[in-house]
Amino acid sequence: MMKKSTHFKIILIVFICIGLSFKSSNTIPHIDKFVVVLDAGHGGKDSGNVGNGYREKDIALKVVLDVGKRLEKDGRFEVIYTRKSDKFIELYERGNIANKAKADLFVSIHCNAHRSQASGTETFVLGLHANKENFDIAKNENSVILLEDNYEANYDGFDPNSPESVIGLTLLQEEYLEQSVALASLVQDSFTKSLKRKSRGVKQAGFVVLHQTFMPSVLIELGFLTNNREGRYLNSKRGQSDMAKSIFKSILDYKKSVDALYTNNVQHTAHQEIYEGIVFKVQISASSRAIETKPYNFNGLQEISRIKYGERYKYFYGSTSDYLRIKRQKKEAEKEGFESSFIVAFKGNQMIPLSEALEANTVSN
Ligand SMILES: [Zn+2]
Repeated sequence: MMKKSTHFKIILIVFICIGLSFKSSNTIPHIDKFVVVLDAGHGGKDSGNVGNGYREKDIALKVVLDVGKRLEKDGRFEVIYTRKSDKFIELYERGNIANKAKADLFVSIHCNAHRSQASGTETFVLGLHANKENFDIAKNENSVILLEDNYEANYDGFDPNSPESVIGLTLLQEEYLEQSVALASLVQDSFTKSLKRKSRGVKQAGFVVLHQTFMPSVLIELGFLTNNREGRYLNSKRGQSDMAKSIFKSILDYKKSVDALYTNNVQHTAHQEIYEGIVFKVQISASSRAIETKPYNFNGLQEISRIKYGERYKYFYGSTSDYLRIKRQKKEAEKEGFESSFIVAFKGNQMIPLSEALEANTVSN
């Protein structure tokens, strides 16, 4: 006989599952549209920085709504907002919104602060902090998770105060790094060319919000509210509309480049892209239990392997040196319900960063 609390838990889980299935059926994007998730940083009890008395959460939201309006008017985009009002949203929930929508792009918008009169725009992609300055910016933007309930569980032990804690964050976004950098460069180019804003460049750092998404993702720092001139500009209607227009333009340029790439790629699908000495696999799940690697345990997928890391087991689908093949297998895994699967690379028995594997010489045929 089960205890009463167990019954209650089961009933609760059933309700949550029903709720989720309704929710996801509502968020299926239009197949022919390019889905952009716009994320206004902070909100509600988290105001972000308040340099010179200007509020980051308000400026980010105004710019986001303006970018969204322009994209919607264009007609080729479906725009999804993580928030459209002054509301608190957890960082991981922002990523969930984007993942559920199967978005093509995730753009998070913020404003910077510094104790000096530093100024300029910068756009970040997820990566290791190259220096303390980048770490400090990521730390400020990540610190919001300390306001969230149960953050230890939701972020798998991530510590926003530890520079080393970021290493675990980088793996999932590696696959999208190139595209993320491409968009980040377009954003910065547009700020400098069309608006003559000072650019601090494209940078990498460990932003939790970028780690939660499975698509090309950037975080734009519009400028420093603590800088007297820049703060005034970003808080003005004209400043916000300029910045929004510039971001809109770079998203158009990005889409154009992706469309061109896609047209080229189609001709290559019959080919192989072999990386000698490298084995690619699709990581489909991880668990503290040792599950038998039989197809019936993995929604019918064959070719499953299991590796123990510390106390946990990781499960992989496929095993090949052909990068094009593993990309197809990742799509298959997604179709079978492993929606957050990603490609990993091995050299011998060692898992190595995917970017490192892809830098190796290729033999195509
Ligand atoms: Zn921020």
